[in-house]
Amino acid sequence: RRRPGVSNLLLVVAAASSGGLVAYADSGSDAAAVEKPQLPLRKKVVVLGTGWGGTTFLRNLDSKLYDVQVISPRNYFAFTPLLPSVTSGTVEPRSIVEPIRRILEKKGGEIKFWEAECFKIDPKNKKIHCRSNIGTNLDGNGEFLVDYDYLVVAVGARTNTFNTPGVVENCHFLKEVEDAQKIRRSVMDCFERASLPFLDEEERKKNLHFVVVGGGPTGVEFAASLHDFVTEDLSKLYPSIQHLVKISLIEAADHILTMFDKRITNFAEDKFGRDGIDVKTGFKVVKVAKDAITMQNPATGDISVPYGMAVWSTGIGTRPFIVEFMKQIGQANRRVLATDEWLRVRECDGVYAIGDCATINQRKVMEDISEIFRVADKDKSGTLTVKEIQDVLDDIYVRYPQVQLYLKSKQMNGIADLVRSAKGDAEKESVELNIEEFKKALSLVDSQVKFLPATAQVASQQGQYLARCFNKMKDAEENPEGPIRIRGEGRHRFRPFRYRHLGQFAPLGGEQTAAQLPGDWISIGHSTQWLWYSVYATKQISWRTRMLVVSDWTRRFIFGRDSSCI
Ligand code: FAD
Repeated sequence: RRRPGVSNLLLVVAAASSGGLVAYADSGSDAAAVEKPQLPLRKKVVVLGTGWGGTTFLRNLDSKLYDVQVISPRNYFAFTPLLPSVTSGTVEPRSIVEPIRRILEKKGGEIKFWEAECFKIDPKNKKIHCRSNIGTNLDGNGEFLVDYDYLVVAVGARTNTFNTPGVVENCHFLKEVEDAQKIRRSVMDCFERASLPFLDEEERKKNLHFVVVGGGPTGVEFAASLHDFVTEDLSKLYPSIQHLVKISLIEAADHILTMFDKRITNFAEDKFGRDGIDVKTGFKVVKVAKDAITMQNPATGDISVPYGMAVWSTGIGTRPFIVEFMKQIGQANRRVLATDEWLRVRECDGVYAIGDCATINQRKVMEDISEIFRVADKDKSGTLTVKEIQDVLDDIYVRYPQVQLYLKSKQMNGIADLVRSAKGDAEKESVELNIEEFKKALSLVDSQVKFLPATAQVASQQGQYLARCFNKMKDAEENPEGPIRIRGEGRHRFRPFRYRHLGQFAPLGGEQTAAQLPGDWISIGHSTQWLWYSVYATKQISWRTRMLVVSDWTRRFIFGRDSSCI
């Protein structure tokens, strides 16, 4: 039987003093337990993840009220919206990260942080199983158990490859800071390889073919920033091969940026066309080999194209340990953890989930939408006129702004077209929408897609909301009936979470950005780029990162981007 190593014991002692760590597990079931000496006075809150959701929660939490522990495999917060800028060297990686310990220090040093990943949640015993990801220096396998009274799951998501063969082996992802750094090095490697003296023209072309799979905001922004890097900086440094560079953007749907307004989609497609970015819509990538990407289109069949570097950005999937957790709690048929409107994981006492790993259960939303339809369908014919459709939609949008986003997303294309044609045909008063079909499509959305967009905006609003609830929890416990009667079926201590959509940006390169702001206000062009600069400078998590990011932008304006392969 092995004994826990010194470093692990130190970890145990340190953690036990926080009141959260209850046992050391040396090697799986062969665990030697170290009992926690006394019960803590404050309730234990364990936060998984230091991304947008977790960090915003921690920054807003009154940490004196709880015994808080944070567990994450990375010891920093990363400002993900600027990751595409890191791939081209417009912004340096360290400018967009803030050490989590610095953030926690500002909370008075009350919060403990463990650099580790959770690999199992045990909701029955209210424990989580963790593994240190710096385990190489540790004896044993670096595993430990942490118990909780409240668990906040904010572990984000992983990139979804849809099990496409060869993607993991041959494509880059753009999810983490390390991914962006690897992409930057890989772009430079492609240029250096293509410059070697013994290569023929075809080989050079292959090396300089950059493929982006996925026409969502991340893929589009990356393609745009790569195009800027090539035209503004690399073309001067590699004049003999710059004409061989090709950027392809492959999207399975009929358009790119389908979650944006049609005007933005059209502008982006036209701009990319003018810039020489080859936008291939309606193509589904089915295989990625070392040298070639194979894509499918009903009209052309399979096409294989050679490439130098590929970036895969087709959406997000659930982390494996969350999938296991969902199986345990009877949510195996869902794609992301379902919570109620108070962000509590359903049927799971004391567990909350926020950000990309969670979605609000839509049963109530669907009931409300059905009710709106029922009221609108005065003559009980099962159909609505244009005017009625408009009223219904306005009512839905006011209550659930996120529905509007999904009406524009590709999953809802059929419905969106129906609504658009109905709305556009103003004089044809009798255009009718089949209510049952509309409701069916909406409930399909409920079961298949994440209802709230997977954005930093949602994750941080949820983190902020949840922290406020936690700050008031004690008062609420002393006064269990609660001051606000929200629903007919019972009293709730807090208002339900409501997402406030503040708009979204799509940087398109060449100092032009498109923005879709609340109220369907669209702005595109150079002035919007300045709006983008100011919003992202303002949103930085600290003055240090704000200064670094602004100075990176200034450096880029004056000296251009750095092209070294480091
Ligand atoms: P994350 O921010 O991903 O954080 C997850 C955290 O969990 C991380 O700290 C991770 O280390 C940790 N973790 C992972 N596994 C474990 C584990 N097993 N145990 C413990 N901790 C774990 N959104 C916008 O609103 N605007 C944008 O412009 C925008 N641009 C983007 C650009 C890119 C390139 C990308 C990738 C995303 C962008 N997003 C944008 C989306 C946004 O980044 C995400 O929606 C947001 O990060 C979700 O926050 P989160 O807290 O759920 O997850």
